[in-house]
Amino acid sequence: MPNRRTETRHAAPGKTCNHFQKYGMTCDDFDRLLARAAGRCELCKTLEEETQRGALVIDHFEGGGLFFVRGLLCDRCNSVMSRHDRAVAWGPSSLPWKDKARAYHLAAFGQPSLDEFEQADRHIASRRTYHVKDRAYLLVAPRKALVVRLDRSMTETAAKLRRHLTERQRERLIELLSGRE
Ligand SMILES: [Zn+2]
Ligand SMILES: [Zn+2]
Repeated sequence: MPNRRTETRHAAPGKTCNHFQKYGMTCDDFDRLLARAAGRCELCKTLEEETQRGALVIDHFEGGGLFFVRGLLCDRCNSVMSRHDRAVAWGPSSLPWKDKARAYHLAAFGQPSLDEFEQADRHIASRRTYHVKDRAYLLVAPRKALVVRLDRSMTETAAKLRRHLTERQRERLIELLSGRE
């Protein structure tokens, strides 16, 4: 069984590989992923050493009860994929990547089943509520991506905020968060 002592080939002496700690990926799997990427970001195909940080990161999809490794990306493409995963509207600079991002998603290294891909899409679609016109959303805990809709969320956080903010304060907060100041 792969464990913290066996999965060490890509780590400093005495350490466990990051790919195993964070993604449960064995060293053999990681070597296969490295071979697939062949030293380039798998989305924009930039050589690893020519990327901004000079390093590629393991990209994964997580959400709706799913978790799968997708591939190796540069930082910029990693944020392109988070756009894909959150169903953020594609702007002029990201639009050229829309189809490529999709193709890359569908070629996920973790080989999800068709059902799982559909499940992922349902999850992505369910996040689309980020982009309603009035933008009455508040990112309460960015690391957890907990979003409450100030005017109607039934969550405790939303209820608390409604209780404690006056109508005017609430509107002001929404303005501030929407950058409409
Ligand atoms: Zn390793
Ligand atoms: Zn890239």
